[in-house]
This record gives sequence, C-alpha cells and structure tokens, in this order.
Amino acid sequence: MEPLFIGVLIVVVLLVLVVVVLLTRRSTAAPPVQAPVAPVDTLADRLTKARRALGERLRVVFGREALDEDFWVGLEEALLAADVGVEAAGDVVGRVRGSGPETAEEAREALRRELLAILAGRTRTLRQEGSPMVVVVVGVNGVGKTTSIAKLAARFHGEGAATLLAAADTFRAAADTQLKSWAERVGAELVAGEPGGDPAAVAFDAYQAARARGKDVVIVDTAGRLHSKHNLMQELGKIVRVLEREAGRVDEVLLVLDATTGQNGITQTEVFTEAVGVTGIVLAKMDGTARGGIALAVERRLGIPVKFIGVGEGVDDLVPFEAGSFVDALLGDV
Ligand code: GDP
Repeated sequence: MEPLFIGVLIVVVLLVLVVVVLLTRRSTAAPPVQAPVAPVDTLADRLTKARRALGERLRVVFGREALDEDFWVGLEEALLAADVGVEAAGDVVGRVRGSGPETAEEAREALRRELLAILAGRTRTLRQEGSPMVVVVVGVNGVGKTTSIAKLAARFHGEGAATLLAAADTFRAAADTQLKSWAERVGAELVAGEPGGDPAAVAFDAYQAARARGKDVVIVDTAGRLHSKHNLMQELGKIVRVLEREAGRVDEVLLVLDATTGQNGITQTEVFTEAVGVTGIVLAKMDGTARGGIALAVERRLGIPVKFIGVGEGVDDLVPFEAGSFVDALLGDV
C-alpha cells in the first residue's frame, strides 16, 4: 500500500475517533446546571431580631464579673425588654437567683432551664380527630389572621391534604377578596357567604362542602372587630357551636396574635379564650419584633401552647414553634 494512502487512512480513522468521542461526551454531558439550593433557615435564623434583642442585652449582663444587685436588675430588665412580662420576669429572676449560681455562666444555664420549664410539656402538634379536620382561626383585625390562614393552607397542601377555606368574616368587604386570592395561590377551595350574611351559616356550608368534596381540612376565617366585642364573641361562639354540632368536634381553635403588640396579646388571649376556648396560638410577625418574649408570657399565664410562628409575609413563612430553638434564639446562643 502507498505510504501516502496509509497516512490518509490513519488521519481519517483518527478524525472519526475524535468525532465519536466528542459525540459520546456530549450525550453523557453533565445535567444542566441547577439553581443553587437555598440553605434551609433554622428557626433561629428567622428570628434574628428576637435573638438580637435579648441576646445582646444578656451579653452585657452576663459579661459582669460579680453576681451583685446590678446583675439581677440587669437580667430582669433584659427580660422585660423582650416582653416576657413583669410577672414572669420577676418570677424567672427569683428562681435563677434562688438556684444559687456562683458564676455568670451558671446563672445563664439556670436562666435557660427556667425559660424552658415555662414552655415544657405542651402539645404543639395540631389535633386532628375527624375528617375533615376542622380549624377555626380567630384574632383581632390586622394581626395577620388571613395571611396565617393562607400559610396554614399552604402547609397542609404541602403535606398532601386537600384544604377548603371558609370566609366567615362576612362584614369586612375586603376579607373575602383577600382570602379568595390567597386560596387561589395556595391551591385551596373557598366557600364564601353573602356580604352581611350569617357567619355561622358560612361555616356550616363550608363544612358540608368539605365533606361532600372529600377535603381533608376545613379552615374557617372569622371576623375580628374589637369595637363590638360582645357581638363578635357571640358570633364566634355560634360558629364554633355549629361546627361542633355538625362535625362532632372542632379540632383546633387557633388564635393569631401579633408579636409586635407585646403584652396586649395577653388580654386578647384572655378575651378569645373566654369566648371560644382557644387551643393554640399562631404568633405572627415574629420577624418584625425584638420582643419575642410574649410567647413565654402567654404560655406561663394561660398555659395555651404557641403552635406556629409567622416569620414573614410569604406563604412559606410559618414555622412550627419549637421550645428549645426558641429559647436558644432568645438567649442569642445560636
Ligand atoms: P388580618 O387583618 O388579621 O387578616 O391581617 P392580614 O393577614 O391581612 O395581615 C396584616 C398585615 O400583616 C399584612 O400586611 C401582612 O402581610 C402582614 N403579616 C402577616 N403575617 C406576617 C408575618 O409573620 N410577618 C410579617 N412581617 N408580616 C406579616
């Protein structure tokens, strides 16, 4: 064979090999670059303000050499500033002091134990005894009730539970529209009544619709006008009674509190508890406050568990309350 021909043949074979290798590499090329996965925020990350509040004050207090009178006054002031409340702050400081710590570190550990003790032993998961599960959400206007309902519905949706929302605030013109647009966004159905209609009738219709359509959860939005407190409480009582009669029970009555309103939350909890027997609290707007201590104040005083915390305006900004992380965040330990 001609050497030239052999040379050309070798070149052609090499070229074919190169093309084959390139094509194979293309077909097994790496998958398309994925958007970086955002790190999952911990509860502490999302409570930056609350963490800063007590954490920084405590750093100053615990930075002191001696456990003298100023130390204890400073500790009480730090707790008060975080909205733990006068009663609870005095009590906690008394207990920490009574445990006889000899160093600031020991006092800090005792404080952690005392705060955890206030939050200990409460069930924070949602009760679900029947199907559809019935959740009534109450709270004064503006606290974040509608947003919290949307967040709850999104959570249920994420867990694969079909949810129906009941717009039982028939007096606030915008309430319906607002809930409707949230319902569309989170993939929930909505039952609404006539403007000015009977809220208990809406709750009744919603429950029947939820049953008929095989829904897993029905969440009832209610009115929150405080200026007509007596009527409002009557109205809420009637909604709960109607649902109890139809469903045999109401699984949860969740009260939404605005964490930024501080000690006022205690009064609101008392009023609503008297009217409808609140079973759990959703503490909204925790991201916007340096005063997360209201959770401790409410639980200590009324024994009602905080079940969720709202940490933003988006549908995913609702996190289950967890005592350990909450205390860590408050103490600025994370
Ligand atoms: P409602 O009157 O109680 O139904 O209150 P809305 O749900 O309409 O909320 C009132 C305002 O609070 C709205 O601007 C919400 O976006 C805002 N909001 C609700 N929950 C949160 C939260 O957890 N964090 C923050 N930063 N804003 C919230």
